[in-house]
Amino acid sequence: MSMISANLQAVQARIELACARAGRPSGSVQLLAVSKTFDAEAVRQAWSAGQRAFGENYVQEGVEKVQQLRAAGLAGIEWHCIGPLQSNKTRPVAEHFDWAHTVDRLKVAQRLSEQRPPELPPLQVCVQVNVDGGPNKSGVLPEQALELAQAVAALPRLRLRGLMCIPEPAPDFASACAVFGRARALFDALNAQGLALDTLSMGMSDDLEAAVASGSTLVRVGSAIFGARHYPAPA
Ligand SMILES: *Cc1c(COP(=O)(O)O)cnc(C)c1O
Repeated sequence: MSMISANLQAVQARIELACARAGRPSGSVQLLAVSKTFDAEAVRQAWSAGQRAFGENYVQEGVEKVQQLRAAGLAGIEWHCIGPLQSNKTRPVAEHFDWAHTVDRLKVAQRLSEQRPPELPPLQVCVQVNVDGGPNKSGVLPEQALELAQAVAALPRLRLRGLMCIPEPAPDFASACAVFGRARALFDALNAQGLALDTLSMGMSDDLEAAVASGSTLVRVGSAIFGARHYPAPA
């Protein structure tokens, strides 16, 4: 068994245990394998172990891998863009990815919708929310999330699936749960307003247990699957 395949099993076991502890059904949390900075061969190994959803942060790097693996004939991969979206660089995301997790302004959403090729299914999107404050952080403020989510849901070539957040690392489990819990409360409040959200994208290698305990439906895990990252590719 490859290291990546063993790591995937270990991460799945962590997710299952966290679900059991939270009284949530097995299989209720999706694993997104974050392959940023790792090459197409690493993605291929994870794919051979059955993993199908992959996350990339840097658009150019991601598009190269999408193209390489399509050319190699790997079927059934779902590509998620989880890096910051600049409004002048939306086109490759609209053309090559299946999901975009970090929509935090209407202008970016409008461009993604306009640029989504008509022969592809709608781009699946999450609105990124800044749940732990900080004026320089990406993400819409919680009190502005409903308005943005409603506007995004109305765009023709996008399908709004949910919310995403990247809180700062918390000192302990309880404080991590407190922050993730705010995202979950917002998710529930938006659904109560009539938005049919099914995806709450939160939790990474170090805090996925707290995210699952707080109601995450999708965890984004990189280093626990692929190992330590050795270069930060440019944003
Ligand atoms: C890199 C990254 C991850 C994965 O982080 P790990 O700590 O390696 O699991 C998850 N989400 C986002 C947005 C990232 O940029």
